[in-house]
Amino acid sequence: MPDATALAPPASLLVDPYGRHVTYLRLSVTDRCDFRCVYCMDPDQRFARRDQTLSTAELLAITRVFVSLGVRKVRLTGGEPLVRPDLNELLHAIHALPGLEELVLTTNGSQLAARATDLRAAGVRRINISLDSLRPERFRELTRHGDLGQVLAGIDAALAAGFERIKLNTLILGERNGDEILDLVRFALAKGINLSFIEEMPVGEVVDRRATDFYSSERIRALISPHFPLVPTTETTGGPARYYRIPGSPTRIGFISPHSHNFCADCNRVRVTAEGQLLLCLGRADSLDLRAILRRHPGEDERLRVAIIDAMRMKPAGHRFEIGVPALVGRRMNLTGG
Ligand code: SAM
Ligand code: SF4
Repeated sequence: MPDATALAPPASLLVDPYGRHVTYLRLSVTDRCDFRCVYCMDPDQRFARRDQTLSTAELLAITRVFVSLGVRKVRLTGGEPLVRPDLNELLHAIHALPGLEELVLTTNGSQLAARATDLRAAGVRRINISLDSLRPERFRELTRHGDLGQVLAGIDAALAAGFERIKLNTLILGERNGDEILDLVRFALAKGINLSFIEEMPVGEVVDRRATDFYSSERIRALISPHFPLVPTTETTGGPARYYRIPGSPTRIGFISPHSHNFCADCNRVRVTAEGQLLLCLGRADSLDLRAILRRHPGEDERLRVAIIDAMRMKPAGHRFEIGVPALVGRRMNLTGG
């Protein structure tokens, strides 16, 4: 009789006090960005000194150790990952790590028109593109620098490059863009791509007023349903979104609802900031300084392994975001990696 355990896929060695296995790493590869989205940054945002952020070799060492511990999915994010000059090199190296099953990326789309093919060739399977408005002036106002035309060209380039899945991420900021919900659904349907609506999270203080009022996922769903029937599905991409199908279309509509539908019970992920802090939860301050370990003991993967396994003790049961309550953690989304 074969031993059943011998046939089972290797379990993650990263297990938290609540029995959750960590299999998903979100890696912020830079805190810099060519946009200054109102909910993410200040207009005169200051960035970390370059020597404070992780080098390519450090990013790779951290990812290698996580994958050796059972992480199967890695998402590169930021800041804007495409502003990192060595991004392709890093992607190729991460893609080659034995045991990694999925390499994915989140981008604002500004440089995708020229870069989509290279990203696909470097092993990126799925791509998330942030898009909060389809109106050029409003898009510029919300991103402070963004050119909608460039991002739309980037979406078309991503379609042509043959990613396995493309998903738009949209933050509804009350009346600042709530009147575009149906237009955004129509746009996703026309392109045959997915769309997720994200509830704004109180992460980092920003000077601009954020949402004018809170648009819960339920409210958005109720707005879409009379126009496009939403059929619940149990499908998951290993992230926090709940998905609905629109019959007759490949498009799925997702909802990421940190406030109205807490997803912490199934949490399978951790984050590493652009400065090398391991974060056990987006909404909590606990962290481990991986950069310090790397720089004190270069080339010693075992040190990182032991420290990361031990850090799982700090993973809390869940975040404590509350509507109308100021940010619990001061660090901004660009450093943290959304
Ligand atoms: N620059 C890339 C982009 O915009 O897609 C990647 C980094 S960005 C921080 C990742 C995602 O985080 C974006 O979809 C953005 O809308 C989201 N995000 C930023 N600040 C947020 C906040 N306060 N609450 C919820 N999502 C936020
Ligand atoms: Fe840049 Fe993304 Fe933050 Fe917008 S959300 S400022 S694109 S990092």
